[in-house]
Amino acid sequence: MALTEIQLTKKISLTKDVFELHYDMGKQVQMLPGQFITFILPEIGGRSYSILEILDNGTIILIIKRWDTQNNGRGGSIALCDAEVWDNFKCVGPAGHFLLKDTPYNKAFLGTGTGLVPLYNHIIHGLAKKTWEKYQLVFGVRYMQDLFYLEQFQKLKEQYPDTFYYHLVVSRDEAQGMIQKWYVTDFLTENTVKQYQEYYLCGAPAMIEGCQEKLKSLWVSEEQVFFEKYT
Ligand SMILES: Cc1cc2nc3c(=O)[nH]c(=O)nc-3n(C[C@H](O)[C@H](O)[C@H](O)COP(=O)(O)OP(=O)(O)OC[C@H]3O[C@@H](n4cnc5c(N)ncnc54)[C@H](O)[C@@H]3O)c2cc1C
Repeated sequence: MALTEIQLTKKISLTKDVFELHYDMGKQVQMLPGQFITFILPEIGGRSYSILEILDNGTIILIIKRWDTQNNGRGGSIALCDAEVWDNFKCVGPAGHFLLKDTPYNKAFLGTGTGLVPLYNHIIHGLAKKTWEKYQLVFGVRYMQDLFYLEQFQKLKEQYPDTFYYHLVVSRDEAQGMIQKWYVTDFLTENTVKQYQEYYLCGAPAMIEGCQEKLKSLWVSEEQVFFEKYT
């Protein structure tokens, strides 16, 4: 796969340690909904990041959590989140098989933290087709202060009131307004599996494994479950 030079053009702080980063790819790039790019970082190696969106002008948008070294991080996310606007990077891609299925089925998307990114990309592509299927997002974080993209979810709800639904959940804070104290796995019940035929999971491996076990116990077949583990 060809190595591409990309330049950081914009950096937006979404929470204390999550950043929305815009890069100029210098050309129009094709992607399939749910794919990622891989940065080749000097002295660190390859680090993959799901694509939130690619704009018509060749801007690629990512959302990256900064893992500091006391939190097991080996420096990849620090190099990207601490970069200055106009810094250049090398990357390959888009690539990946965590793709949105073009099927007439209701779909549930369960993600934690930056695991939201490919799910958001799936959802905006799916909704833009204006078909009848339901797109249900369940977005979980530990604390209220870790939530992001609330305005974007509300806008999607206003734009697609009959096809887009979302739940926000926190696992370690008290419930507040529409935000429930839940684990994303709590969404999966006998009642919900009657409503959704496909499940898209993304985030930390433990969350994905928890959802897979729960879905299995509810008799959802493996062919209906798609996932990307962030490792
Ligand atoms: C296909 C793919 C897509 C990815 N997309 C994104 C993305 O859109 N945004 C993003 O922030 N990260 C994403 N990641 C994770 C990313 O590649 C790096 O692992 C992360 O930035 C940490 O790199 P590091 O060098 O700082 O630390 P590392 O030493 O590589 O990782 C530190 C620790 O954090 C764990 N970890 C890393 N990312 C996460 C996460 N998001 N949730 C829970 N645990 C995690 C790792 O397993 C490891 O234990 C993705 C990973 C893969 C495989």
